[in-house]
Formats: sequence, structure tokens, C-alpha cells
Amino acid sequence: MITASVHPRQLEPRTWQQELAEAITTPEELAAALGLSRGALAGAHAAGRHFPLRVPRSFVARMRPGDPDDPLLRQVLPVAAELADEAEYVSDPVGERGALRAPGLLQKYRGRALLITTPACAVHCRYCFRREFPYAQQSADAPRWSEALAEIAADASLAEIILSGGDPLSLSNARLESLTRALAAIPHVRRIRVHTRQPVVLPSRVDDGLLHWLRTSTRPIVFVLHINHPNELDAELAAACAKLRATGVTLLNQSVLLAGVNDDVEVLSELSLRLFDAGVLPYYLHALDRVRGAAHFAVADERAQALTGELAARLPGYLVPRLVREVAGAPAKVALGAILEQAKSGRQCGQAET
Ligand code: SF4
Repeated sequence: MITASVHPRQLEPRTWQQELAEAITTPEELAAALGLSRGALAGAHAAGRHFPLRVPRSFVARMRPGDPDDPLLRQVLPVAAELADEAEYVSDPVGERGALRAPGLLQKYRGRALLITTPACAVHCRYCFRREFPYAQQSADAPRWSEALAEIAADASLAEIILSGGDPLSLSNARLESLTRALAAIPHVRRIRVHTRQPVVLPSRVDDGLLHWLRTSTRPIVFVLHINHPNELDAELAAACAKLRATGVTLLNQSVLLAGVNDDVEVLSELSLRLFDAGVLPYYLHALDRVRGAAHFAVADERAQALTGELAARLPGYLVPRLVREVAGAPAKVALGAILEQAKSGRQCGQAET
């Protein structure tokens, strides 16, 4: 009997680094993978020059073939609308450049500070509020960690450090461990929070080394994932979440409310239910940050508020994310309802979500 020969390498599971190296970076590759017509790529090259296309194939595999309006595709495909000049949409919509304390160290809120650990992301989300962040000058990447760490060590009010980027899980496990060790050596740092989309778009990132890092951390670690649509949460991602939970890490999710992606009560409801099934609690639903190139994702504040009202009428409170907007200089994320009230009454807004 003749059997097909299989090269041994085909039997080996793909590492996340291999998957990352094979990410799709051109509109044509994306169109070919999904069977889209070239018409679906109008403006993709021009918009991609400002912020290049990048998406792992495992995320593309969750998109509906042949559907140019697929909600996952809309999050990653550059479109001509990004080139429109909208007055309120700016390079630094949440005033981060004014919040810098050291290279790559931002403090916006009391007791917490955020480290820009790397400029790299596995996926480029078209609505990203840091799409124009000056990473070259302002990352606390490895050679410059010491300056940021010294600043943290000198401020005993900083009880929580948020690893952000870019995506901190773009760093190797060894770098994550060494950074966490350095943070844990600072007595007043009690918690470490990791803001990441990488396990979502690349579930293979949850590898043995990452799990070892989480299991052996001497500080509690909170993962805030970034999932916007229930179609992102497939069996592979749910399995990755189960592995993360088994390490004792706390799993939360933040979404961005995006027109044409998740501005629908059925979609938001299904997302919360699937998150809970995967052991992840919905935390924030962010109103879009008004970054240049993202105006076509905006949902009117009144509609956003109505959507979360409908969500609250369907789901238990712990499955309803807090609808917030980040306001430059505010002491905490601001509840959108408070902003609307303020707009109605013209009064000073004092209500905030932390
Ligand atoms: S993964 Fe996060 S930081 Fe990276 S592009 Fe997407 S939203 Fe921005």
C-alpha cells in the first residue's frame, strides 16, 4: 500500500512566532484569503500607507469568506474613509503626550501608571487610539526600562503597573518575566495589569512559557483582553482563556463600540454571554477615541447609551460592561451617561467610573 509522505515539520504545531511571521500584510493577500473582489479594496493601499495592514491568519480564519462587511474584517482592512479630514479627530485624542512621566511611562490616574513596553502588535486595529503614538521616542522598551522603573520605585503611590504598548505580549516570555521580576522587586507595586489583544488574534501566544510566567509571578496579574465581537471568541480562543485562568490570572475584557462591527444589542449581548462562558468578565465598553482616521467607526453617544440600556434590560449587571469615554485630564474614565447629562444640563460633570 502506498501512503502519502508527511514531512515531520508539518506535524509540529506552529509557534506563535511562526504564525506572526506569516501574518497577512497586504490587501491583496487578505482579499485572496477571503475570496473578496478587488472592488472591496478601494482605498486600502492609500489608507495603509499611514497605518499598515497587519492581521494573523488565525484571526482571518474567523471571518466570513466573501463578505466585505464582515465585522472582524472591518476592524483590520484599511479603507478610503480613513483619509477623510474630520475636525475633531486628532493624532492624540486622549492627551497621552501630556501624561508622560519618563520615556514610555504614562500616568493618567491616581495609583496606577502605564508602561509602553513595545510598539509592536500582532494586529493593526484601524480604530487604535495609538495609531500615531510616537513609539520611536516614547517606548519603555528593554534598553530604557531602567528609567521608567526608577520613576516607579520613587513613587510609593503607584500600586498598580499596566503593561501596554503596542501589545506587551509581543515581547518574549523571558522579557516579560524579567520586567515582572523588576516590578515585583518594588515593594509598593502590588498588582500588574496586562492590556493585550494578542491571545485573541493569535491564541497560540498562550504557550507554555507564558503560562509559566503567570504561574510563577509573585504579584497578582490581571489580563484585560480586547474582544469586540462574539465571532472573535471561537473554540481556540476559549481554550486559551481556560489555560490562562488555570494559572490564577484574573480575566477581564474591554471592547470598543464600533459602527458596523458591534453597535447592535444582539451582538453585544452574545459577546457578553460568550465571554462569561470563557471565564472572562466584561469590563469596559469604550466610546471611540477620536483618533485621526477612525471617524467612520463613531457611534452617536445617545445611541451608545440606548444600546447599553437595552443590554442591561437583558443581562445580569455583571455581564453589562461600563460604557465610558476617556477624557484627557479627567481623574478617571467618565461614564458616557454623565457626559450626556452634562451636555443636557450644561452643569459641571462630576460622575466618573474607575
Ligand atoms: S492591538 Fe491594541 S495597541 Fe495594537 S493596534 Fe490593536 S488596539 Fe492598538
